Amino acid sequence: MSHSALATNNLEAFWMPFTANRQFKKNPRLFVGAKDMHYTTADGRQVLDGTAGLWCCNAGHGRPKITEAVQRQIAELDYAPAFQMGHPHAFELAARLTALMPSPIDHVFFTNSGSESVETALKMAIAYHRVRGEGARTRLIGRERGYHGVNFGGISVGGIVANRKMFGPLLAGVDHIRHTHDLSRNAWSRGQPENGAEYAEDLIRLVQLHDPSTIAAVIVEPVAGSTGVLIPPKGYLERLRAICDQHGILLIFDEVITGFGRLGSPFAVDHFGVTPDLVTTAKGITNGVIPMGAVFCTSQIHEAFMTGPEHLIEFFHGYTYSGHPVACAAGLGTLDTYEEEGLLTRGAELAGYWEDALHSLRDARHVIDVRNIGLIGAIELEPIAGEPTKRAFSAFLKAYDAGILIRTTGDIIAMSPPLIIEKHQIDQLVTTLRDVLQGLD
Ligand code: PMP
Repeated sequence: MSHSALATNNLEAFWMPFTANRQFKKNPRLFVGAKDMHYTTADGRQVLDGTAGLWCCNAGHGRPKITEAVQRQIAELDYAPAFQMGHPHAFELAARLTALMPSPIDHVFFTNSGSESVETALKMAIAYHRVRGEGARTRLIGRERGYHGVNFGGISVGGIVANRKMFGPLLAGVDHIRHTHDLSRNAWSRGQPENGAEYAEDLIRLVQLHDPSTIAAVIVEPVAGSTGVLIPPKGYLERLRAICDQHGILLIFDEVITGFGRLGSPFAVDHFGVTPDLVTTAKGITNGVIPMGAVFCTSQIHEAFMTGPEHLIEFFHGYTYSGHPVACAAGLGTLDTYEEEGLLTRGAELAGYWEDALHSLRDARHVIDVRNIGLIGAIELEPIAGEPTKRAFSAFLKAYDAGILIRTTGDIIAMSPPLIIEKHQIDQLVTTLRDVLQGLD
């Protein structure tokens, strides 16, 4: 069946995730190919990828080393049982990944997605306290406007109302601190906002409310991506770290978006110089080519699980596809590509150009804020009264027609292009977006 026949005849059965299905199926947008910075649509147009797929294709599309590694792996060893058996590529990838992390983060547990990484990290945190004899530490703390995937743990610590409200009481023993987004003080920030480190003090209030001996972990995205690129104020993450240290609470960074070069360093951990106890990742770990996620932890956490009796499984957790050979091969091909092309730090070289280009939209129609860090940025639009999200979503549709892929959340446009982007393509994103905004109601 040709692509166009598919587009018109066969859209019903697939219930699409996080998509207005009824709207989409009246006016479908289908990609049928991708190479480097561009997608090809079913009607043969080229669309410049301003979002690295869903924040994941950091090396761009159709990268030969990754394709070849995957093809070779499928032919050689398609699957190996994940429990009580191993295969060399999982160990090789783990060693190479942990080498990217600062000490004392030195172990990695494989999952298949960001959501699974979050569940794994939350369980690891609670179990860690328990194996050390602090079984009362079960409480988890997230943030308003946090996004930590869609499983029950993730939506419980997450702070997106729409993702939570349909699904019952969620996990017990979860609390939230405020997010730091504050346009009244920090609009038009370049890099980290100046104001708001004091939002970290919310954690002290929760510590006093619950007693620290009941709190297992705090989870935050160093830069919240999915809820509109919320960048931590200067000093905020450092303060969270200090409060956690003071009270024996583990700090989890959800780096599903910020990992693998997005901020111009391998991880946000490096960019901000704050080392958490656990780091969740996914997406860029395989350049989005094969589903995979990972949780990094410190030697202290790993060691606590290793000290029990020899015959016991140390952590009663894992997935059939943890460390899947094909995903590991994709991960190794991805790391080769990132390292050979300097992509894990290329964002730092381009960040200044990116920043100036985005901020040139300050006077574009409807724009009430521009903010950026590394190779990620957001343009916040004035919402239409009574119809939040409508204006930005219209921008997304018009931008797609005009040949650029952007993402929206609420009335915020987010962009996070592949790290191979060239300056003229940054210009194209910005010029097209300016025209699109000019034409919006
Ligand atoms: N955590 C964060 C910070 C994310 O941004 C995402 C996805 N955007 C997830 C978790 C969930 O990842 P996945 O969709 O792979 O389950």
